[in-house]
Amino acid sequence: MHAKFTETELAFQQQVRQFMRENYTPELARKIRNPDTFREGMIEWQKALDSQGWAANGWPVEHGGCDWSATEKSIYINEMAMAGAPDVVPMGIKMVAPVLYSYGSDKQKERFLPPTKSSDIWWCQGYSEPGAGSDLAALQTRAVRDGDDYIVNGTKIWTTYAQHADWIFCLVRTGTEGKPQEGISFLLIDMTAPGVTVSPIISIDDEHHLNEVSFTDVRVPVENRIGEENMGWTYAKALLTYERTALSGVGFCLRTLQRIRHYASQENNGGRPLMEDPDFQARLAEVEMDVMSLEYLELRVLNTVDKGGAPGMESSLLKLKGTECQQAVQSLQWDVAAAFGGVLPDEADTDDIGHDFGNAARREYMFGRASTIYGGSNEVQRNIIAKFALGL
Ligand SMILES: Cc1cc2nc3c(=O)[nH]c(=O)nc-3n(C[C@H](O)[C@H](O)[C@H](O)COP(=O)(O)OP(=O)(O)OC[C@H]3O[C@@H](n4cnc5c(N)ncnc54)[C@H](O)[C@@H]3O)c2cc1C
Repeated sequence: MHAKFTETELAFQQQVRQFMRENYTPELARKIRNPDTFREGMIEWQKALDSQGWAANGWPVEHGGCDWSATEKSIYINEMAMAGAPDVVPMGIKMVAPVLYSYGSDKQKERFLPPTKSSDIWWCQGYSEPGAGSDLAALQTRAVRDGDDYIVNGTKIWTTYAQHADWIFCLVRTGTEGKPQEGISFLLIDMTAPGVTVSPIISIDDEHHLNEVSFTDVRVPVENRIGEENMGWTYAKALLTYERTALSGVGFCLRTLQRIRHYASQENNGGRPLMEDPDFQARLAEVEMDVMSLEYLELRVLNTVDKGGAPGMESSLLKLKGTECQQAVQSLQWDVAAAFGGVLPDEADTDDIGHDFGNAARREYMFGRASTIYGGSNEVQRNIIAKFALGL
């Protein structure tokens, strides 16, 4: 792909590379990797991206987005990942923001878009419930009208980073007539409102990403509803395509494959470098080819968005294939770390809280199991693709 870049694109690639080198410092990386300073570090990083005008690059230009081509977007995503830098936390800039600028009132846009872009509001996503995941329309969290407010009662689950969030965007039931999809509204709820409780869920990687969020008689002003009452399903579906497009993980795969090649070429505890093992070589080649195809698929989807289209069924393809590639890369990474007994000879990237390739291999392998579930499970993505392919 590199060979196809124009002079302008190559210059842009250099600009992004330099920005990453100068701004994603080892100190900031340490801050973000440490759970105690993760929130502070992420906000610092997102503010640096915002100062450069890049934080909300996918937004329409009139709201502060960049007028980038699909190739420039792809260069940006991949250079960021190659630098080991995290992308913005998606729930605000990549998920609720497109709903806000597509369906929100002028007042809502004015109130929420600037602080979302500058990371002064941290958002979380309140879709899933204990009895509603794949079958999201079964959600039971109730919002009952009381004058100029709704009174909200119910429970959301698997809410990523709710412990850090200032606001949550929620799907709530406002009607029980007709199909379940017809009685859903899209509400923005202040996490500091009385009656909101956040309880941690510790995941298999032993870290705290997830939560249960309960609402007990929480008063939410009607002006915090996006669009029309009972029309939330339409807005929610649009948001999910943006969420899935953001889950491909091409950059992560490219960077990790580079590190895998580096370590697999060195002698390990068992002797010969893994790269001399034909079995390992074949697995690596297969994953690399898949990632290359994924990169093209991502460009196609970005190109569609570039031309004014919304990411449609392709976002399901991207989510499905992307998460399968991520898991395949994580398995290879795990095997390389295991060949060294989890401790790699090159400690250059070990930081003071003990994160290194071996540690990352464990963490990413463990948490990576969830990637085929979140954002809509891969079985559900297959159903969406099948429906499209069969014209159902
Ligand atoms: C790490 C992580 C982070 C998450 N973050 C958030 C978040 O921030 N906000 C949020 O709202 N949600 C979040 N989720 C929830 C996620 O969207 C749901 O877990 C997901 O949609 C699946 O729902 P479920 O867990 O209820 O499983 P279920 O829907 O009960 O599914 C169980 C199994 O049945 C399969 N299945 C279900 N229906 C079908 C079907 N029709 N055809 C074929 N197979 C089917 C599924 O694929 C799955 O294997 C997160 C989940 C994880 C794991």
